Amino acid sequence: MSDLDDILRREGRDVLRRELPGLEEAVPLAPLCAYGVGGPAELLYRAATTGALAHAVRTAREVGVPVTVLGRATNVLISDAGLPGLTVLARNEAHTLDGELLMVEAGAELPGLVAELAGQGLAGLEFAGNIPGSVGGAVVGNAGAYGRSLSDVLTGVHLLDGTTEHVKEPRELDFGYRTSLFRRLPELTVLSATIELHRGERSALLDEIARDAELRRGKHPLEHASCGSYFKNPSRELPAARLIEDAGLKGFTSGRARVSERHANFLVALPGATADDIVALAAEVKRRVREHSGHDLVEEVRRLGF
Ligand SMILES: Cc1cc2nc3c(=O)[nH]c(=O)nc-3n(C[C@H](O)[C@H](O)[C@H](O)COP(=O)(O)OP(=O)(O)OC[C@H]3O[C@@H](n4cnc5c(N)ncnc54)[C@H](O)[C@@H]3O)c2cc1C
Repeated sequence: MSDLDDILRREGRDVLRRELPGLEEAVPLAPLCAYGVGGPAELLYRAATTGALAHAVRTAREVGVPVTVLGRATNVLISDAGLPGLTVLARNEAHTLDGELLMVEAGAELPGLVAELAGQGLAGLEFAGNIPGSVGGAVVGNAGAYGRSLSDVLTGVHLLDGTTEHVKEPRELDFGYRTSLFRRLPELTVLSATIELHRGERSALLDEIARDAELRRGKHPLEHASCGSYFKNPSRELPAARLIEDAGLKGFTSGRARVSERHANFLVALPGATADDIVALAAEVKRRVREHSGHDLVEEVRRLGF
């Protein structure tokens, strides 16, 4: 790095220190992540409002500091070296209702929100009642279950593109199975979303969410740290878990990371695991599945800082 680069780098960080009250430095990210692994954020900012989220991302861009936006970090694997520059945690959590139209900020936690809506007899998001994470993260990955996904109920997304705010319709955002334009273009930040709900029967909605939770407790190794399914399913008829199981990998362990005995698409972090352990396990699973069945598994979990 030249002297000039170094001066600009330090100046950019000084601007962030001035502009973002409560900015923290060298913050361990592992305790904030579902995987419980990974190194520190060089700078960390918890954005409690949509204005604060947009301001933090915009300011970092203007001064040339790399910026990563996280929701609840339930679908990310952060490198052991951590994240350079600014990490912004979306903690803008408010929502409003206009009849059956929901406007919700990106940092809202999805399961709590869905339960609250069901309690008010508002239906449409039950499939997501037990998907951990934030609304923003769910938009980015088009989170879903049981053949339904967020893009089925979204009517609009308020986003930051670089340093400019826009409202986009779902058809402009290239949604697909566990993907969207946001996954391809990291310069896009979800600020809030609008979702079309409908009336439903309160107790039936709450029952449906409880049944799903029960089903997940039976199927998922929730006693271990994970990000849920590690790989995308090649198709509805061909789940990644079956390909991994057929390759004889249930229980396969590499370092402190293991293919769950209970659900083969859960690559779990055992106590003391590092991000590198999980990366090495995932690479070996991909290699053996390719060798066994010819299928190339694709990661659903996002790697950051590698
Ligand atoms: C036990 C378990 C079960 C799970 N079950 C399911 C399931 O059934 N279905 C399913 O789809 N997923 C499932 N997941 C995965 C995860 O819950 C979802 O992917 C979730 O939507 C991620 O949200 P998040 O806020 O944690 O996103 P994060 O992990 O914080 O972020 C994911 C990606 O989105 C980006 N991002 C986050 N917020 C924003 C924002 N506001 N603007 C721009 N980019 C942003 C991040 O940079 C990152 O690249 C499961 C996870 C676990 C641990």
